[in-house]
Amino acid sequence: MAAFRQQFVTKCHRDSLNIGSFFPQRMVLEKAKIDLHVHPFLDRYSITDVVGAMEETGTDVVALEALDASLHPRVVYEVLKAYPDSLQDRAGIRLPNGRYIFNGREYNTREKLHLLTVGYSVDKADRDTPIIDVIDDAIEHGALVIIDHPFVDNVHTRTAGHISAELEGIIEGVSKTYSGKVALEWNGYCIPWIRAVLRGILTLGFYGVDYHDVNLKVEQFSGSMLESGYNVPVLADTDLHARSRSDLYVMGTAHFTTKLEGDSPKEVLESMKSSIFRRQYENVKEYVGAWHLLGAFCLPVLFPGLFKKPRA
Ligand SMILES: [Zn+2]
Repeated sequence: MAAFRQQFVTKCHRDSLNIGSFFPQRMVLEKAKIDLHVHPFLDRYSITDVVGAMEETGTDVVALEALDASLHPRVVYEVLKAYPDSLQDRAGIRLPNGRYIFNGREYNTREKLHLLTVGYSVDKADRDTPIIDVIDDAIEHGALVIIDHPFVDNVHTRTAGHISAELEGIIEGVSKTYSGKVALEWNGYCIPWIRAVLRGILTLGFYGVDYHDVNLKVEQFSGSMLESGYNVPVLADTDLHARSRSDLYVMGTAHFTTKLEGDSPKEVLESMKSSIFRRQYENVKEYVGAWHLLGAFCLPVLFPGLFKKPRA
């Protein structure tokens, strides 16, 4: 059986495996397309639209997040209703088409840094929970932890400015403490030219901004950590705010690819984490269109009174 499995594993990839013919799952994805930061608005369309967008954009793995832990139970309920042959465990869901939806959550922590956990949602965390409490809980439950848009100011400038030296110190401390366990995000919504314009506007208002290309900053930071012996890889994702059904097709704009193995969401998550921290993956660093960004994020954040759920 072991020999057969090995033979099967080395043979299979998405194009050659006829899913559903004799194996209900695929065991290896040679080059899975993965977007771990997607905010669905499930009051406006159904989970089948999300799955349709995964197929249309060729996205093999997503993590769906909200700013609390309520989303994943709803996703599970709707997926099992629409696709009863799905396989579900704590890490997420394997769809009958062989794609995966991971259990995920985004957090605003006490330090005002944002976090993503993929493969587990910490239920009790809120805005007053220290970042290390969320990280410890998530890691203990097998999750991948990502500090998302780490150099974006979530406090004073509605994401337009730079972060304080104190926060930079906290990111460095977390990166050293959790080396090999925590990743950093390259964010597909942080379009440099738009942030450069915002920086100009803030500077006109006498609000100094030290840098605008926060993705460049995160890559420089990760590189300097590596030189000092700390492993905090950078993962590209979209941070898609899919406020409408058509927004879903922006999924996977920024993503990474890697080889995944496993028959269950838990196994695939383990395989993904292992590839990430061995740095055996490739980022695809693409930005969303400016019009999408304006409608999906900028206007809701600038005018939160006019938009339901401006952030997620
Ligand atoms: Zn987000």
